[in-house]
Amino acid sequence: MNAIHFDSHTLPTFEVYTARDLDRIPQLQRLPDQMRFEMKIVSAVLPFRVNRYVVEHLIDWDAVPHDPIFQLTFPQRGMLAPAHFDMLAKALQNRTSPSQWEATIQRIRRELNPHPAGQMELNVPRDDEGNPIEGLQHKYPETVLFFPAQGQTCHSYCTFCFRWAQFVGDKTLRIATSQARQLTEYLRRHPEVTDVLFTGGDPMVMKTAHLAAYLEPLLTPEFAHIRSIRIGTKALTFWPFRFLDPNEGDALMRLFERVMAAGKHLAIMAHVNHWRELQAEPTLLAIERLRTTGVMLRAQAPLIRHINDDPQIWAKLWQKEVELGIIPYYMFVERDTGAKSHFAVTLARAWEIYRQAASRVSGLARTVRGPSMSASPGKVEILGVSTIAGEKVFSLRFLQARNPRWTYRPFYAQFDASATWLDHLKPAFGESEWFWHDEYRRMITQRQARAA
Ligand code: SF4
Repeated sequence: MNAIHFDSHTLPTFEVYTARDLDRIPQLQRLPDQMRFEMKIVSAVLPFRVNRYVVEHLIDWDAVPHDPIFQLTFPQRGMLAPAHFDMLAKALQNRTSPSQWEATIQRIRRELNPHPAGQMELNVPRDDEGNPIEGLQHKYPETVLFFPAQGQTCHSYCTFCFRWAQFVGDKTLRIATSQARQLTEYLRRHPEVTDVLFTGGDPMVMKTAHLAAYLEPLLTPEFAHIRSIRIGTKALTFWPFRFLDPNEGDALMRLFERVMAAGKHLAIMAHVNHWRELQAEPTLLAIERLRTTGVMLRAQAPLIRHINDDPQIWAKLWQKEVELGIIPYYMFVERDTGAKSHFAVTLARAWEIYRQAASRVSGLARTVRGPSMSASPGKVEILGVSTIAGEKVFSLRFLQARNPRWTYRPFYAQFDASATWLDHLKPAFGESEWFWHDEYRRMITQRQARAA
């Protein structure tokens, strides 16, 4: 890992390595052949893309394979189930035909739950004719997610990404639109929406002019009901030069100032997995620059085995965020998709890590909500493990729910030491169903009927 000194006159060139380039990454040459072979197999199914800045300045190659940023960006053998891995390894060794190879890959991808939590069936809104409105998701009444077409990639991909299906070039799995009009027409018809979240991929891969084309219409009086605009990004650590570039970076700061001058709350939802990401000088400068505009910075990340499954890492991360003026916001449970079995942490352990980390920081860093599962009925927070009337249970609540009336109402699940997701849990105290079950089923049936 080489420290980098930032000089605005000599910005590093953005250069990415993808699966095709694994043999030309110099740092990988020091790893065993078997490991490089495994990376090739895994990256045939799951997306791989890393930029040179991350390789040269964020990964500590002396600590590989345990280095968290290496685990965060480079494919790992355990990310595929043994049966899938062996199938592909054999196919590669037997020089299978390209069409058979592609068919095998497609089959494996379909088995990896590419769109968890009903993203496709339940969250994509429909027009009056029942046709899906591409590029939008509307799950909670007040918030619309927008997936701008130019923002459906990232400066580097995270190995665990739950949006992996967006990146594998399969158009049937993509959620995107290049039409700002889709967004504005929808928001015009939905005055109950107050928040728009620009997401991807990473919207910060877009040129400022493209981002402006989406954002500026929302500053007109017609969209006075849109009070908050959030932009989810990992560029602060994977490519901080996006904010520092004298042309594109400057234009971005001016755009952010215009958004705030129009009276909107503007928040950068920074994705930061490990405090190590917050050490590089360009990242610190980018944070400083953003803060001078008055934009709000919040940070969120999933809890991931091999990367940050340790309370010390989280305590240090939250503390560092507070010192840098970033509000710690969410700790997520890894979603049930892609390479989940490699990265998952049990719910019981997730809660322990959250609790122990929180106990090591002051109240200023305890603004983090979680551990939270973004499940199909809503965002479910694990409040704790207790014994009530002789039964060991998880206390849970919705932080967000498809029906806002479910929000913040505690409910209980039988304790299960191996559970890693809401689907693995059963209601406690002899209840046969969750309190929200019937209404949720009705919502699903109605949605499916509209889509048919
Ligand atoms: S930056 Fe976000 S969207 Fe992009 S790969 Fe990482 S987790 Fe996924």
